[in-house]
Amino acid sequence: MRPTRLFATAAAAAVLPLSLLPGSTTAAEQRPAPDKNPTAVGRGGAVTSVDPDATRVGLRVLRQGGNAVDAAVATAAALGVTEPYSAGLGGGGYLVHLDGRTGEVSTIDGRETAPAAMPRDAFIDPETGEPYPFTPELVTSGVSVGVPGTLATWETALEEWGTRSLRRSLTPAARLARRGFVVDQTFHDQTADNAERFAAFRSTKRLFLPGGEPPEVGSVFANPDLARLYELLGRKGTGPFYRGGLAARIAKTTRKPPVVADTDLPVPVGFMKPRDLRRYRTLQPEAVTADYRGLRVHGMGGSSSGGSTVGEALAILDTFDLAAMSDTEVLHHMLEASALAFADRAAYLGDRTFVDVPDEQLLSEEYAAQRACRIDPAKAATKPVPAGDVDDADGTCPAPDGGQARPAPDTENVETTHLTVADRWGDVVSYTLTIEQTGGSGIVVPGRGFLLNNELTDFSTVYDPDDPNRLEPGKRPRSSMSPTIITEADGTPVLALGSPGGSTIITTVLQLVVDHLDRGLALPAAVADPRGSQRNTAAVTAEPEFIDAYGAGLRALGHELKPAGDAFTSAAEIGAATGIGFGPGGLLTAVAEPERRGGGDARVLEPTS
Ligand code: GLU
Repeated sequence: MRPTRLFATAAAAAVLPLSLLPGSTTAAEQRPAPDKNPTAVGRGGAVTSVDPDATRVGLRVLRQGGNAVDAAVATAAALGVTEPYSAGLGGGGYLVHLDGRTGEVSTIDGRETAPAAMPRDAFIDPETGEPYPFTPELVTSGVSVGVPGTLATWETALEEWGTRSLRRSLTPAARLARRGFVVDQTFHDQTADNAERFAAFRSTKRLFLPGGEPPEVGSVFANPDLARLYELLGRKGTGPFYRGGLAARIAKTTRKPPVVADTDLPVPVGFMKPRDLRRYRTLQPEAVTADYRGLRVHGMGGSSSGGSTVGEALAILDTFDLAAMSDTEVLHHMLEASALAFADRAAYLGDRTFVDVPDEQLLSEEYAAQRACRIDPAKAATKPVPAGDVDDADGTCPAPDGGQARPAPDTENVETTHLTVADRWGDVVSYTLTIEQTGGSGIVVPGRGFLLNNELTDFSTVYDPDDPNRLEPGKRPRSSMSPTIITEADGTPVLALGSPGGSTIITTVLQLVVDHLDRGLALPAAVADPRGSQRNTAAVTAEPEFIDAYGAGLRALGHELKPAGDAFTSAAEIGAATGIGFGPGGLLTAVAEPERRGGGDARVLEPTS
């Protein structure tokens, strides 16, 4: 996929000199771009992420005796430096943890939360009485900034399962922020794609548009403000962020964004108060677990729809013998199962603190059998398909409907980042984190070096009392993030994986599982495989290579296919996955993308020759 972009990045970044950026701490020095490695096989521990600096930080923690959680937190903090448009202190995420000793799977919901004073009609423009247009008003705004949960997630993870202090975990990232990283094509392009809105905020312009332009490929980008902040948080803990002056500054930034005088961009203001940060807590909901091919697929519950929707689609597919089918037949069944699961997602899924989600029914064998009988092996159903009736599932056909289809506009974007870590003790972390949009709200907290999220755009825009994802104060918007760990029945890990990509996260994880477990693709091939995504919409969104490879067969079955790509970027890619496969004798296969998002970086502690 888009090899020119990848090769331009690697070649250009290899030798170009540093440019003098505001915030750079070093002058003209040559620094090679770190190399990337999409697949690594070996033992003793593994880290895989979208970024080579971040992966190396995590691997070093493992080498020094840290466990998977220590390494995951350090890697995530480093991603806050090198992938600041995807993740960082201003965002949130979900972490799934497998304890290698007990086989127990636990999760952390570190999702951003709507401020307590946020009214249900906050997305209605008071001047017009109409909903704010999604772009640019909602996307670039204070009103869609949720109370950030990422730092609290790191703290919870370290307290629950880590062996290192927050200070030690943040130190490598602080160093990276101070020293800077070599700008690659992806970072440059993401900055250029966002230049107009970044230029609308004094703080963002100063940090990400040095000299008024996106940083050049091959220059070194340092973020001393973030370095100082990581050091402060290392010394003082999370207090300053959630209770101190920084909390007040974050809240104020959402209520009074630092807009430049000469922008035309409308920037609706938010409702966050310091007390919203003071009251922020991570949650530790039970994992949502589905059975598939005799294995246990553990995913996210809480405010995410990921575990349930991936799990339901797999439960439906578990009723079919996919291994005996042709590629076209497998993909047809996968796309149809996905549409059915998305219909139920729209009808039943929302923040579980507010909504009673019928997880058990949605993942039951009876319900799966009933949903499966809606799949015609010879013909794609007309989309959108209706939700099912979870209360009357008895496993017999025909299945009753549970109401109308709820075709919601898909307003989720294609950013975010996923990292996967395993250690020598058998602990595994699958962690997806985000600030939502590429560049989040576009607003850097002045002098602090990180962008605020625009996660609240994941709520339904118009308030509908029957919608489980309606906006409510104190609620977390429904997520698609699907950090996943698949184990044997006894808790032995088989596969850990995840991806960014808005609601395509769910279909990417689904396809990876089907590719690997049913189609027999090795994990690197499954990650590289072209992707198609059916989210209960008229057309399957697909990468061009997917259309080339499978389009004819799928069209013959009645599927409509349209190339991926969104309103914000030219990317025709779906997702940017990372994963680790667990083989016999402790053999680990760590995999990152070979090409998507410029390619990721997978490393193991003791590579096999
Ligand atoms: N906001 C999205 C979600 O929670 C993630 C953002 C993305 O991956 O684009 O599902």
